[in-house]
Amino acid sequence: MINNSLKQLAAALAAKKTSSRELTQTYLARIEQLNPELNAFITVDAEKSLTQADAADKLLAAGRGEVLTGIPIAQKDIFCAQGWRTTCGSKMLGNFIAPYDAHVIQRFNEAGAVNLGKTNMDEFAMGSSNETSYFGQVKNPWDKLAVPGGSSGGSAAAVAARLCPAATGTDTGGSIRQPAALTGITGIKPTYGVVSRYGMIAFASSLDQGGPMAKSAEDCALLLNTMAGFDTRDSTSLDRPVEDYARDLAQPLAGLKIGLPKEYFAAGLAPDVAQTIEAAIAEYKKLGAQVVEISLPNTQLSIPVYYVLAPAEASSNLARYDGVRYGYRAPEYKDLTDMYQKTRAQGFGAEVKRRILIGTYVLSAGYYDAYYLKAQKLRRLIAQDFTDAFKQCDVIMGPTTPTTAFNLGEKSNDPVSMYLSDIYTIAVNLAGLPGMSIPVGFGANKRPVGLQIIGNYFSEAKMLNVAHQYQLATDWHQRMPDAIA
Ligand code: GLN
Repeated sequence: MINNSLKQLAAALAAKKTSSRELTQTYLARIEQLNPELNAFITVDAEKSLTQADAADKLLAAGRGEVLTGIPIAQKDIFCAQGWRTTCGSKMLGNFIAPYDAHVIQRFNEAGAVNLGKTNMDEFAMGSSNETSYFGQVKNPWDKLAVPGGSSGGSAAAVAARLCPAATGTDTGGSIRQPAALTGITGIKPTYGVVSRYGMIAFASSLDQGGPMAKSAEDCALLLNTMAGFDTRDSTSLDRPVEDYARDLAQPLAGLKIGLPKEYFAAGLAPDVAQTIEAAIAEYKKLGAQVVEISLPNTQLSIPVYYVLAPAEASSNLARYDGVRYGYRAPEYKDLTDMYQKTRAQGFGAEVKRRILIGTYVLSAGYYDAYYLKAQKLRRLIAQDFTDAFKQCDVIMGPTTPTTAFNLGEKSNDPVSMYLSDIYTIAVNLAGLPGMSIPVGFGANKRPVGLQIIGNYFSEAKMLNVAHQYQLATDWHQRMPDAIA
């Protein structure tokens, strides 16, 4: 059962072979059993989840179920969910109970899905290993010495360990794709503006985008159908016709043109990851695809550009945590300024403080032109690289990450080496493009390898088709870590 697709679960619910309550209880029991070690969830509230499950069972009994009705979904703890503690992985919001639903949560509620709990994440989504969470590190279900990736590490570990059928994530520079790759699951970051950011706690608003994390591309398509759509409450939400992201899943791939960026296969890519990616590309050729070499010449600039722009936006977004409106407030202080200072000093972790300092610096009067403005100009060039590349191919493929999952603690004291683990994912956010990761095998240390698929703007349905056809021909997405079965 725990390996069933969403479609299979929906069919079992419709046929009354199981109920939403039973399904929810099964996953709550798995969480109780496995979460103490994995730490994938920050908040679980069985009573709340089961209340939703009972409501879903009523809808199903009345024949009013939709595809996600009654299905438990784990929510990244960055999405505000009314009545649920919503921490964003930070002490700053450790006591924050959200008074309203994020757009994404509202959509899942309207679809009759069950909120299974809030998943662990890097503090304010800043990180690539889930080690910056105030609520402790998450272990990779494939190897408990390894990180699950970040910042959506809790959602990734939860799906990989089958603690939930599916989960949500957010991706500012790779936080859906990178943890999906490191835990052997499937995740898609849609085109910027496709999923509303309303109620999704802001990190870097021009880059942040929510998306689904699940076992397969088919599941992701069904989840995206629920998550996507215009929302007037997010000024960057795009008013486009509603799409069925599953509509092209069955299309054959004959004639598909895959672009392989030479910069993604250069120095820095671990040989075992390179080999596994090459094997996946060979499989695509068997499915009828053609391969062309392309170039994304500004790839090397994406990390420095991102680490100017994302901290700049973060320093502005995180100014709201002042101990006055909500969240943590230092227990003792002399006056208002002292209260602000102590609250922020005590409430934020080291990585968040580093970003606020960098962001404030690059936005300051003397350095704005030299750093922030320059980075904005380079962002344009990085986006142009992709526009040029898509003249030669339908999708771009390459590794999601340069190595398989690294060890817990290995990079936590070396921010630059941590930042480099996002070298292949960050440019996609800078360009606003959709990107996804699918599992395609294992590295030398038996840890999962992810293939990244990058599409042109609004080509999610095509990308999901490309991923789904591979998953019909292979079974990497169905593999489960030994320790959790
Ligand atoms: N790892 C990147 C960072 O630390 C990206 C995080 C994300 O996508 N939220 O900022």
